[in-house]
Amino acid sequence: MATIRQVTVATHGASEAIAAIRAIVADGRRFLITSHARPDGDAIGSQLALALALQRLGKTVRIVNRDPVPEPFRPFAGAGLVEVAPSVEDDFDALFVMECGDLTRPGVSGLERYRAINIDHHLGNTGFGEVTWFDESAAACAELVADLLDGLGVAWTREIATQLYVGILTDTGSFRHSHISARTFEICRRIAEAGVDAAAVARQVYDSGTTGRLRLMGAVLDHMRLEAGGRLAVLWLDDGMLASAGATYDDTEGLINLPLTAATIRASLMFKRTDATGEVRVSLRSKGDVDVRAVAQRYGGGGHRNAAGFTAPPGVDAVQERIVREVASLVAP
Ligand code: AMP
Ligand code: MN
Repeated sequence: MATIRQVTVATHGASEAIAAIRAIVADGRRFLITSHARPDGDAIGSQLALALALQRLGKTVRIVNRDPVPEPFRPFAGAGLVEVAPSVEDDFDALFVMECGDLTRPGVSGLERYRAINIDHHLGNTGFGEVTWFDESAAACAELVADLLDGLGVAWTREIATQLYVGILTDTGSFRHSHISARTFEICRRIAEAGVDAAAVARQVYDSGTTGRLRLMGAVLDHMRLEAGGRLAVLWLDDGMLASAGATYDDTEGLINLPLTAATIRASLMFKRTDATGEVRVSLRSKGDVDVRAVAQRYGGGGHRNAAGFTAPPGVDAVQERIVREVASLVAP
């Protein structure tokens, strides 16, 4: 079996990686799929589209993630396949790792023992695994899965296409982020052709929240601080704010994007503290060529130019102002 490292492709096809994966799939019977901790729509959509496709090929598939499927994605076909576990030790013919720069990102132990297929679109992928298929030009990992389905000869059922759409819709920030291309729309054209009701998917993903989440938006925006001459918004969130809004941690997803709806704001920074661990989750978003990934990377995280994040250990408070200044300097007039 050919070993392929850092196959970087900017166009449709990725024939070398797909051929290697096709051979592994043909030879195998049991497959494991994982993705990153606190999965987003692209992590879930990519995993489930692939899982449903492998099932159609008669394969046995397990999906093991550290964290559950977020509520908005649960009604879509396949969501029930996701198992939540801290470790995995069964026998598998290969492991698919979706959307992860390295093997620690899933937060699931025991993955090192498997023959790994690494499919990702985040800069900084370490090239782990027997096959690395890394395409930074993809707007979503789901775009790579779309190519892979064609390579495996699996028809896009409505269920499969729905998962691809969840990945693309969410990872492009509803078609706002960079990297959206003709290929993105070509895949979406085929998704619509497969019978997916794009409006219904968007309603489910974005408009199925709770009133607690609405109150939380109010509280978070009420505490918003503007820096860099009004070009950077800094948001703060802790368990107390969740409790008084009647919201849950899941309700915090996407709040960071709210400030970007103002024309003057170029970047948004959010600190979410969880009392149980003392950890602070830091999320960064930006518009255009403001590169927030560079900041996330300095603190051990990563992501994309316009959407990045990292988890800070207890004690981050001391460096919080430094992080604010670093992002402020990116957008300073
Ligand atoms: P979030 O703010 O958690 O929604 O993350 C935004 C983006 O940054 C996503 O594309 C994540 O994949 C990426 N990201 C977040 N945390 C990390 C991390 N610790 N390491 C690498 N990438 C991350
Ligand atoms: Mn992604």
